[in-house]
Amino acid sequence: MDLILNLMDGVSMPAVSNAWIDVYEPATGAVLARLPDSDERDVELAYLAADRALAGWKAMGREGRSNVLLRLAQLIEDDLEAFAQLESKDNGKPLALARKVDIPRAVANFRFFATAILHFPSEAHVMDDVAVNWTDRQPIGVVGCISPWNLPLYLFTWKIAPALAAGNCVVAKPSEVTPCTAHRLSTLCARAGMPSGVLNIVHGLGPKVGAAITAHPGIPAISFTGGTRTGAEIARVAAPMFKKLSLELGGKNPVLVFDDCDMEEALSTTVRSSFTNQGQICLCGSRILVHERIYARFRDAFVSRVEQLRVGDPTSPDSDLGAVVSRDHMEKVLSYIDLARTEGGKVLCGGTRVQLEGALSGGWYIAPTVIEGLGPQCRTNQEEIFGPVVTLQSFTSDEEAIALANSTPYGLAAVIWTTDLKRSHRVARAINAGIVWVNCWMVRDLRTPFGGMKQSGVGREGGVDALRFFTEAKNICIKL
Ligand code: NAD
Repeated sequence: MDLILNLMDGVSMPAVSNAWIDVYEPATGAVLARLPDSDERDVELAYLAADRALAGWKAMGREGRSNVLLRLAQLIEDDLEAFAQLESKDNGKPLALARKVDIPRAVANFRFFATAILHFPSEAHVMDDVAVNWTDRQPIGVVGCISPWNLPLYLFTWKIAPALAAGNCVVAKPSEVTPCTAHRLSTLCARAGMPSGVLNIVHGLGPKVGAAITAHPGIPAISFTGGTRTGAEIARVAAPMFKKLSLELGGKNPVLVFDDCDMEEALSTTVRSSFTNQGQICLCGSRILVHERIYARFRDAFVSRVEQLRVGDPTSPDSDLGAVVSRDHMEKVLSYIDLARTEGGKVLCGGTRVQLEGALSGGWYIAPTVIEGLGPQCRTNQEEIFGPVVTLQSFTSDEEAIALANSTPYGLAAVIWTTDLKRSHRVARAINAGIVWVNCWMVRDLRTPFGGMKQSGVGREGGVDALRFFTEAKNICIKL
């Protein structure tokens, strides 16, 4: 069994409490590793180390920091296969997905922000012959980064890369459900030339470690990705301390399929946008809205493709879906399928746990599930399920499609399928979501603003937005 350790001031160590928490392998249900059950004492040690490292890290300048992050990216890339195997084992996701998306994207996050910081401009505003203003952007200091379990290394690096590039030192907390790849990353930092204390990783439970980071008076900025309820708790604690907050929260994303769409593309991509990573991506579409003229045709073709998806061993190239992340999560998703039935929904396919054989018999698998017959206001269509479950609803006009799309408390992402250029512009602008894809899904340019409206979050990550978040702007006005 593997032992996960905290990274404190450049040293791998257990928690002060010396207590441990079991980490499970979703594919088998067996214990995979143990992680430190850290608390506010570990957060304090991490904070002190980060604070000591600040001046040196800032003094390395943009180029020095950029070089460290580029070396770290290279070290992860050189170790890609081991990282991918570990991510798949820890999370239950297909190994092929970890190889193709999760780990390459973690590498790309470091490369992107290592170079973005070299091009990060300061604005100047000249007032004719009166004065010149220029915007000085300094690192904030010690910042907190808290990340979830669905894309463990991918979202962990999406936060720490811009934070570090901008010159901050970091106290980071990966999800306790999937801590393995963050631990592996911690073993590479010194080899990349990162000074001790610049990145500190404190493992453990959210209400202990995450809460201690949020409440720490020396940590003035928190970047958080996770559930809306946790985000609200973080905001409640951080607001009276006037902390800077970036909150990337839940979603209930609509997919709008108009009757002029390219049916083949809409079908194949909607299968992916529904069930990639077992539906556990915040950007997955979970409410599929289809024009009534093509509803029956789309539904029948969609269901027949979903029925062909194979749920199985995450390491097998034949598996389209692996396991969901934990027993608790599996039970939550199955309870939503039961709820959908009680609300009058008709399960068109899936709807049950999948029981595999042999070593995988204790694993947490769910058949990809499609439900129809539910109205927009029922809980199944309002609450985030975050698993391999989607619903189908029909609409008769653009206005109705837009109203349905906007009918939840969330506003993270949306997908529109249409070949009408005017409609694509009009509908995209009318949807209350931070990210809208037209005739595609998950096409990501790291320079674009990433984040949600309404209960899907506050602030934007990505590109210049992330570098602005992790710096404090100061206007310096000089009389001419
Ligand atoms: P979660 O909110 O349970 O946990 C996220 C992180 O917060 C974990 O590290 C957890 O330990 C920590 N945490 C828990 N309680 C805390 C507290 N009181 N104070 C501080 N930290 C605390 O979320 P999860 O179950 O790990 O992830 C799934 C959720 O994340 C879904 O709702 C999904 O939509 C969301 N998500 C959003 C995005 C996005 O970009 N908007 C991306 C991925 C996932």
